[in-house]
Amino acid sequence: SKVPAITLNNGVLMPQLGFGVWQVPDDEATAAVATALEAGYRSIDTAAVYANEEGTGRALAASGLPREELFVTTKLWNTDQGYDAALRAFDLSLSKLGLDFVDLYLIHWPQPRRDAYTETWRALERIAAEGRARAIGVSNFQPAHLRRLVAGSEVVPAVNQVELHPWLAQAGLRAVHAELGIATEAWSPLGQGKGLLDEPVIGKIAARHGRTPAQVVLRWHLQLGNVVIPKSVTPSRIRENADVLGFELAAQDLAELAALDDGTRLGPDPDTFG
Ligand code: NAD
Repeated sequence: SKVPAITLNNGVLMPQLGFGVWQVPDDEATAAVATALEAGYRSIDTAAVYANEEGTGRALAASGLPREELFVTTKLWNTDQGYDAALRAFDLSLSKLGLDFVDLYLIHWPQPRRDAYTETWRALERIAAEGRARAIGVSNFQPAHLRRLVAGSEVVPAVNQVELHPWLAQAGLRAVHAELGIATEAWSPLGQGKGLLDEPVIGKIAARHGRTPAQVVLRWHLQLGNVVIPKSVTPSRIRENADVLGFELAAQDLAELAALDDGTRLGPDPDTFG
């Protein structure tokens, strides 16, 4: 069955399931993205700092898929914050991807101590107005950063891409997103292969449904309403992670998964990083 789409706050449709390519070297990204497109993913999440926009772009071009069927996200790296620097960085990302527009452009980290994200956002607003990004958003923004940005801007971010998995369910942040009209996108949705999928309760739920632990966790995200972008370079896992539309977790499953939320962060603290 087809990947469901969520409607962003500017009316753009975003597939709820995508493919992430962090830590995939440029020369491997082409094969990984090609496998993902063959498996049915249409949304790809890269970033300037991943250094694989060219490899990703090669797979998009070689797929022969119509541009309007693809949803491509890239992100502005920390050292490129500021109005002029952001415009230049965006041009470079577009040219590396071989595209004339992206579907979603994100500020990768707020870097609150640097205090440049509001000025940077002006550049993203311009990029959106020019039609070179169909939607613009942020990543790793905390509630205070979101509220400050929204209070001083024309455009409300369409998306906030944040660390989110059953160990870090981010209920408070998701409530702020709902209030402000921002879609929640989960990074490291599977917990980065760092033991989350070995949690006995996830194994138990997977056995009950005849599914794998990764499929249970991805299903949890979809039922929460998150956009989710699992990463793998292993073709069988790429396909496994896309095969999550044909079953449903029950209330009891969701309650058992909720009990795993102990606030464990696998990545940096957004209040101090960068
Ligand atoms: P993830 O949670 O998607 O985990 C990926 C790892 O899980 C794989 O490397 C593999 O070890 C394991 N795995 C994947 N599928 C599996 C399966 N079916 N069975 C068993 N193990 C499996 O981690 P991630 O790559 O950190 O996050 C996904 C994407 O999120 C990234 O590729 C990137 O696009 C994005 N991301 C964004 C930020 C940000 O700051 N905005 C930070 C990290 C990641």
